[in-house]
Amino acid sequence: MSVFSDTEPLWFRWLSRTILRLGLARATAALTALVTVLALAIAESVILVLGRGNPWIAALSATLCSVLLTPLIGSFVLRLVFELDRARQQLTVLATHDDLTGVHNRRHFMSVVQREWDRARRYTTPAALLLIDADHFKRVNDTHGHLCGDELLRCIAQTVADQLRQADVLARFGGEELIVFLPHTDPLGALDVAERIRERVQSLVVPWQTITVSTTVSIGVAPLRNELPSLDWMIHEADTALYAAKSDGRNCVRTLPFEPSRSGGAYPVSSK
Ligand code: GH3
Ligand code: MG
Ligand code: MG
Repeated sequence: MSVFSDTEPLWFRWLSRTILRLGLARATAALTALVTVLALAIAESVILVLGRGNPWIAALSATLCSVLLTPLIGSFVLRLVFELDRARQQLTVLATHDDLTGVHNRRHFMSVVQREWDRARRYTTPAALLLIDADHFKRVNDTHGHLCGDELLRCIAQTVADQLRQADVLARFGGEELIVFLPHTDPLGALDVAERIRERVQSLVVPWQTITVSTTVSIGVAPLRNELPSLDWMIHEADTALYAAKSDGRNCVRTLPFEPSRSGGAYPVSSK
């Protein structure tokens, strides 16, 4: 996501980028040099037009004013450009990430993955979706409190993130549910990733005050198929597979059949 607003003119973007690239010290030096050259040109032009005045004194006055005043006033203005950039970056993170877990939020996931999904469809490259739901999470909250649940959720998200490649997109889909898009991943590869995530979460032990807490996850896997009309449909298939995982006792990975002729039920895979 761009940190620049669409309404900003191009010259403003270019200038901001140039200042940021130079850094505060070099940008101040460049601005001082520019103002000095302009001040000299103006002073000499005025003397030329009036036809009187000492050009050396005019040049000295113009240079001294520029060199002394520009760093003072200019660095203040340039500092604002850096502050604005920092604020924009923070805003971008807030708009695209989930506060609690630090992973992407649902809105950002949908916009990024829609593009990935379209590309995968156009070039017929494999891809898959995982829907991950913490098992009996309400019990964790009821037994140890909501803050403990929050900490466990953060650790689950981190554990899932650790199992992914850079190109994979992870987001909090809602509540105690995470979603992952795996580009360039065939169905077996996706099941492999899902199973690895399930195992890692199962062995996760989170210290909380004087105790430790742990949980498991159920995962629904939906591979990209030619028959899928939309990304929403793919999410729906992952959700159906997740539902099957819950029905089969939780802490397991399920997917829908890959062949259209066997649609209807959900496949158990090599997990428990
Ligand atoms: P299941 O195995 O069927 O998924 O059971 P569950 O208890 O995980 O599912 P249920 O939908 O009954 O409850 C979801 C729980 O997740 C209840 C809700 O308070 C908790 N939860 C959702 N979001 C958060 C959160 O941000 N922090 C904490 N601590 N808990 C959350
Ligand atoms: Mg749950
Ligand atoms: Mg849930």
